[in-house]
Amino acid sequence: MFRPIIEAMTPYVPGEQPRPGQHLIKLNTNENPYPPSPAVGKELAQIASGDLLRLYPQPRADAFISSAARTYRMPRRSILAGNGSDELLAMLFRATLGPGDRVAYAFPTYSLYDTLAAIQEATTIRVPFGRDFVLPVAKLAAARARVTIVCNPNSPSGTFTPVTTLASLTRMVQPRLLVIDEAYVDFAASTALQLVKSHPNLVVLRTLSKSFSLAGMRLGLAFASEPVIENLLKVKDSYNLSRVAVAAGVAALSDIRWMRRNVARVIRTRELAEKHLRKLGFEVPRSSANFVLARLAGRDLGRLASALRRKGVLVRHFDAPMLRDAIRISIGTPSEMSVLFKHLSVLVPRLSDSNGRLPFVNESYR
Ligand SMILES: *Cc1c(COP(=O)(O)O)cnc(C)c1O
Repeated sequence: MFRPIIEAMTPYVPGEQPRPGQHLIKLNTNENPYPPSPAVGKELAQIASGDLLRLYPQPRADAFISSAARTYRMPRRSILAGNGSDELLAMLFRATLGPGDRVAYAFPTYSLYDTLAAIQEATTIRVPFGRDFVLPVAKLAAARARVTIVCNPNSPSGTFTPVTTLASLTRMVQPRLLVIDEAYVDFAASTALQLVKSHPNLVVLRTLSKSFSLAGMRLGLAFASEPVIENLLKVKDSYNLSRVAVAAGVAALSDIRWMRRNVARVIRTRELAEKHLRKLGFEVPRSSANFVLARLAGRDLGRLASALRRKGVLVRHFDAPMLRDAIRISIGTPSEMSVLFKHLSVLVPRLSDSNGRLPFVNESYR
């Protein structure tokens, strides 16, 4: 019934979402532990009570695009709105890659790229990161792929590639496309966004799912030169953003201070979490995102993830090369993190060698 490639492919596996009423500490899918701006709730109440839901939304989400243009100081015609940035990625793959066309990215990274490439029957060139997660720039450029993708900060490592490096990669791959997936960039020190104005082969993707606490609303933005946006529009669903999502997006972008305050809290907690994980003996690459990768070289941490699950704490373990000895932990509230560390302090010494107890300093997590 299906294309052979679809029958044969393994589907993308999202992190577990608890059932309603199931109380778990959710540190597995990089959601924001703090609520979205109250401005969002007000807009949603208004749209629910009005007559507008009877009508189709504007095909290009005009109000949201105007807000984004103001917020990010970009021309409207260089912006495309998506039903989450996942949809923008799907549009990019659909518009650029046919059977056998090449797409390159460093690995491990966001595994949705593999899934989207498989659907297009594209050829993936996955250049391995070293253990330090420094971007293999020369190898990526040498792949001469039609599309190169850099997730920055990278997931699941949290590591960050400086914007100057990305600017040179953009020039190295031109006229081919470079896509920078900046899903977590609000938790980092700088962004490549303004490079879009001077680099016609660059696409920068953003989402409101993480820093703006709106994962449930599905709002993403693509920034690129006008010709790139025009071609992406050709493969867009006519009404890809609902009126509800547009209203929420406008409200969220009107309250950047709210987002910044939550981001600052998450960063403070992240820095403490890194420190505590290292005390427990984990290797933790320096994170510029709202999660950290904790590694114990050579051990399969799938069992640790399951043990935490039994204690009511969800973290992410990827059964993939280079990631079996790691868990990815989303940054929660300080009290959620103290529950995590309470369990880790018991579980982790058990994972250590018979004589080598891992160091744990018994100070309360705050
Ligand atoms: C979360 C995430 C996305 C998807 O964001 P949505 O807007 O929720 O679809 C895209 N890329 C990366 C790397 C992500 O982690």
